Amino acid sequence: MLPDHNGQIMVTYRCSAACRHCLVMAAPGQDEALVSVEAAVEYGLDFAALGRAVLIAGGEALLYSDHILRMAGALSAAGVPVAFVESNGSWCTSDGLTRRRLSLLREAGVQGMYFSVDCFHQEFAPAERVYRGISLSWELFGRENVLPSELSPARALEAEREARDPRSRRRAALSHVHFIGRAAVDLAPLAPPVSLAELLTQDCAADLDVDSLREIQVDPYGFVRPDWCPGVNLGNTATHRLVDLCRTEHVRQTPVLSEIAGRGPAALLPLAERFCITPQPAYASKCHLCFDLRRQLVEHMPLEFGPRQVYEVCRG
Ligand code: SF4
Repeated sequence: MLPDHNGQIMVTYRCSAACRHCLVMAAPGQDEALVSVEAAVEYGLDFAALGRAVLIAGGEALLYSDHILRMAGALSAAGVPVAFVESNGSWCTSDGLTRRRLSLLREAGVQGMYFSVDCFHQEFAPAERVYRGISLSWELFGRENVLPSELSPARALEAEREARDPRSRRRAALSHVHFIGRAAVDLAPLAPPVSLAELLTQDCAADLDVDSLREIQVDPYGFVRPDWCPGVNLGNTATHRLVDLCRTEHVRQTPVLSEIAGRGPAALLPLAERFCITPQPAYASKCHLCFDLRRQLVEHMPLEFGPRQVYEVCRG
C-alpha cells in the first residue's frame, strides 16, 4: 500500500517514455537536471518532519540508477528510508538485470516499488518488461510493498493492446486524466468543451489544502508543488525550507496562492490581462484553463509558475 501522505522527490524530467497523459511533460529529450543526493537528504528529513513518507519518482528515476542507489543509501543513513521508487519498468529487459537492480535498491534501504501499468505507459513500455519488474519486486520486496500488488501477464498485455486503440485511450483520458502537461496538448481535444464562464466558477480550495494532500512534489530545480498541479508553486527550496512551504497556512499567507485557492483559475485572469493574454472560450477542465494561462504567464512569473519544463520539452 502506498502511504496516505507522501513527499515525492521528483529526481528528473527525463524519461524513457513520453506518455500522452504525463502531467510534467517528461520525455527522453528533457534536460538533464537532477536532484542532488545532498538536496534529497534535506528534502527527506523535511518530508519526515511533516509526517510524509519519501517517494522517489521522475520522469524515469532509474535512468540514473547509480545516482538513485546513492540517494537511497544516504536517505536510509539519515533515518528516512525511501518508501517507494516509481518506475515505468522499461529498463526490465532481462531477469538477471532486473533482479540485480532491484536487489541493490533493497540493499540501499528502498522498501517498495511502484510500477505504472495503463494504456498510456504501455504505448512506450512493453508489457513483458513491466510485468517482469512487478513480479520480481513481489519476490524481493513482498507483495504488500509493491504496486500493483496483483497483475496477471494477460492484464499487462491488455494494457499494451489498449495503448494501440484510440477508443480505449479516449475512454481512459475521459475517466481519470488531468488535462495539464502533455495531456493538455494530446488529450484535451478528446474531451467535451466546457465554457469559460462555467470554469471560472470553480475554486481550488481542496487542491491547495496542502496539509491534507496525499502527495507533495519537489522537482530538480527546487520547485515545490502539489503533485497534481505542476507549475503552481508553493515556493522554491533555493529560498525556503521545504518544511515551511508544505503547509496550508503558507498558502493562506501567499497572495497568488490564496487567490487561486479561493477563486480557482479566475485568479489568473487579471495577471493574464496585464500581459495581454486572452483565454479561449472553452476548455476541457478548470486545470486545462489554468495550465493554458500559466504556460503563457511563466516567462513573466517564473518563480510562481516555473519551470518551463512543465509546459514544454526543454533540451539540455
Ligand atoms: S486549476 Fe490549477 S491550481 Fe486548481 S487544481 Fe487545477 S492545476 Fe491545480
